[in-house]
Amino acid sequence: MKDKVTRRDFLNGTRVAIGASLLTPWTNVFGRAVNEFALDDDYYPPAKTGLRGSHDGSWETMHARVAGNTWSHAAPDGEYDLVVVGGGISGLSAAHFFRKEKPEARILVLDNHDDFGGHAKRNEFAIGGTTRIGYGGTESIDTPSGYTAVSKTLLSEIGVDVQRFYDYYDQDLYSSMGLSYAIAYDSATYGQRKLVRGYGSIPWEEFAAATPMNERARADLVRVFTDKTDYLPGMDDGEKRQLLSKISYRAYLKDYVKVDDQLLEMYQRWGMSYWCVGMDEVPAIAVQGYTDGGGIPGLVHTLPRTGGRGDEPYIFHFPDGTASIAR
Ligand SMILES: Cc1cc2nc3c(=O)[nH]c(=O)nc-3n(C[C@H](O)[C@H](O)[C@H](O)COP(=O)(O)OP(=O)(O)OC[C@H]3O[C@@H](n4cnc5c(N)ncnc54)[C@H](O)[C@@H]3O)c2cc1C
Repeated sequence: MKDKVTRRDFLNGTRVAIGASLLTPWTNVFGRAVNEFALDDDYYPPAKTGLRGSHDGSWETMHARVAGNTWSHAAPDGEYDLVVVGGGISGLSAAHFFRKEKPEARILVLDNHDDFGGHAKRNEFAIGGTTRIGYGGTESIDTPSGYTAVSKTLLSEIGVDVQRFYDYYDQDLYSSMGLSYAIAYDSATYGQRKLVRGYGSIPWEEFAAATPMNERARADLVRVFTDKTDYLPGMDDGEKRQLLSKISYRAYLKDYVKVDDQLLEMYQRWGMSYWCVGMDEVPAIAVQGYTDGGGIPGLVHTLPRTGGRGDEPYIFHFPDGTASIAR
């Protein structure tokens, strides 16, 4: 890449993901401190608020390209040994591994967003003179015991010791405060608005009786948790897996487990925090990993899970989720 365009032009024109943290890891990743990139002093994407996602500035170029626009090549000054397109965990990891092999390598990481990390981003909020950090994207190092040797090595090389979460994550916090899972029922669906506590921690009959659901939905709730029914009889595991990959969890509950509509509605929004879509769009097979201990019912005795998280707790996350890994 030899065309001469100033760094400022390049950064402004293509929106390379450069954050404004002056932390050493930043310099490690990019080889330079941020003040060498001609960005404003207050340039710090994590502190921006509002619904950001693919913010303005990240999509216009692609849309213009789709509409037929073309540009002459704009390249940064100098030559690079590696240009990585996409500054998410994958791209940053690629840069890390390349630099490991070639410590002197000049690496350019491009991203269409104003911050690096891809889905692994953070938000910072100034509240009453303090900074609160939250996930701007993905949450957890899920089941690190199952990571590949390469991934485990990567975590260790960037200084993440997952064992330490056992010391620093208070697994009894919520139960010690008397808190438990609860379901919020709305009046539009259930005739009354009600919060029912104890999901998964009190007997299902007791929980069901406290809900504003109709009698059939209550009975179905107890059934899906206490019956040991295989709802896909006559199929081998391969056939079950194939079917469950093709139908939604909602369709599975409706057509195979045959539960009442009010129970379907109870689970419809269950996955919004994981998958960001309703359960009519989540493949039934995806739910298999969330069936333990009062999770999502209906699959435990139909297609018992092999492998997976097992007893490993879901504790491996930083205050900013996985953004600390990117950073
Ligand atoms: C809702 C949700 C929750 C998740 N929760 C977790 C979790 O808790 N734990 C976990 O480990 N994983 C989680 N994941 C999965 C995780 O987000 C991904 O596995 C991971 O982010 C993938 O990283 P990546 O670098 O491959 O892609 P991304 O994070 O998507 O990064 C790719 C980057 O490249 C940019 N890019 C793409 N094309 C171009 C281009 N042509 N030019 C410039 N830039 C480009 C993109 O805009 C993006 O910034 C979750 C995923 C979702 C959707």
